Amino acid sequence: MSNSSALSDAYAKKRPESASWYKRARAVLAGGVGHDLRHFKPVPLYIERGVGGRKWDVDGNEYIDFLLGNGALLLGHAPAEILAAIHDATDRGTHFGNDHRLQIEWAELVQKLVPSAERVRFVNSGTEATQLAIRLARAFTGRTKILRFEGHFHGWHDDVIHGFQPPFDADGSLGVPMQVRDHQVAIPAGDLGLVEEVLSRESDIAAAIIEPSGASWGRVPLAPEFLRGLREVALRHQVLLIFDEVVTGFRFSPGGAQQLYGVLPDLSCFAKVLAGGMPGGAVVGRTAVMALFDITGNAHHDRHQRVTHQGTFNAAPLSAAAGIAVLKQVAGGKVIERANAMAERLRDAWGKVLQRHNIAGYVYGLCSTFHVYFETDAARARAASSHQDLQTTDAGRLKGMPPELIDQYQRLLRHHGVDVMSSTGGVLSAAHTERDIDEATTAFERTVLSLLEDRSILSLSSPAGTVE
Ligand code: PMP
Repeated sequence: MSNSSALSDAYAKKRPESASWYKRARAVLAGGVGHDLRHFKPVPLYIERGVGGRKWDVDGNEYIDFLLGNGALLLGHAPAEILAAIHDATDRGTHFGNDHRLQIEWAELVQKLVPSAERVRFVNSGTEATQLAIRLARAFTGRTKILRFEGHFHGWHDDVIHGFQPPFDADGSLGVPMQVRDHQVAIPAGDLGLVEEVLSRESDIAAAIIEPSGASWGRVPLAPEFLRGLREVALRHQVLLIFDEVVTGFRFSPGGAQQLYGVLPDLSCFAKVLAGGMPGGAVVGRTAVMALFDITGNAHHDRHQRVTHQGTFNAAPLSAAAGIAVLKQVAGGKVIERANAMAERLRDAWGKVLQRHNIAGYVYGLCSTFHVYFETDAARARAASSHQDLQTTDAGRLKGMPPELIDQYQRLLRHHGVDVMSSTGGVLSAAHTERDIDEATTAFERTVLSLLEDRSILSLSSPAGTVE
């Protein structure tokens, strides 16, 4: 039996309850799961509860969690202050459809923390936030097209679905009209000359949208100088700059990546940490742009000259309550420092594992995130004389590791009690402990040793590092 099917068997053996839920799921859930990233063989995870940096599945298996609600849980699972705020709000009714006090307090905190947040409009997710930001930019400029960067993820709506996964020139999804695709220009990030060229050539670009961390919360690193340059070029061409801070917001600093790097976008999108583990998102930005939501009483203006926006659950009370609770913690600065310190410990320890075993790869990431790159190109691995030599900012390479490798990596890690966010990386919370990191490092070491044995990953430039 191959190592990989032995692992699958051992994995399944510890998950009989999960298997029976999976059977029921396949008979009722379209696609068998609730999110493309939750597909998993032999069975998806069915999580029962979480506390701090850990969670447990329906079979009682324990995981050190670096998925953390897809990056939403900066304070870890079930933090007392957020649960108390939600309970308190629940006691007064879950949803009104009217505005309420908590929405305003939540917005005030966002305005106080985020440098460019002159005005705030709440939505229900990161996807809704980028959709609304793009509508605002088109309305403000009277132009149609969007400049986006290859590999950057901005949610799943039609306008942004092309160009986030390689091959970047292929359709993002079935079901998106060609005209929509024609409304975007996708280029590699990092080349200001190229941005200048596109903006000089194309007169119909309303906005440039970017993950300020670099694609997929920093999996493809981006120099902050590029953001500064982009700000300047966009201004010169009167194109709005949209920061997608869905992951970086309230995580990279209390005011997000824009505060960390000192770059002021015109509009920014938030979700995840913003709502403290409840559904929620926001578009924030310059008053002049956000005034497009205003109702003036002038019938012509109100019907024809503004941006419309509805949403049953916008700023729903429970989301607002959780959001206020988390942002109060974020404002203090300590929780971000703690999550960053834990991530640094992890990056350092996992990097040393790769060095100790002479594995062709490296560990990287900013603030409270981490990513692992495995070099699977034999020629490159052989040519590199140090881990340093493998470093790249090529989105095609960093986002193009073989899917079977990612699958097996995630299966091994879960088997050893660790869950990651997507691909090879994850996020840390203020609730993670040194012990969590040390145990996760042991799991990581076992994982890479198995991968090495299988020849799924390569050794670095050693004579033994020959690869089929
Ligand atoms: N933008 C970025 C940078 C994201 O990482 C995500 C979600 N992973 C989104 C937008 C979409 O957010 P949501 O899943 O809340 O729709």
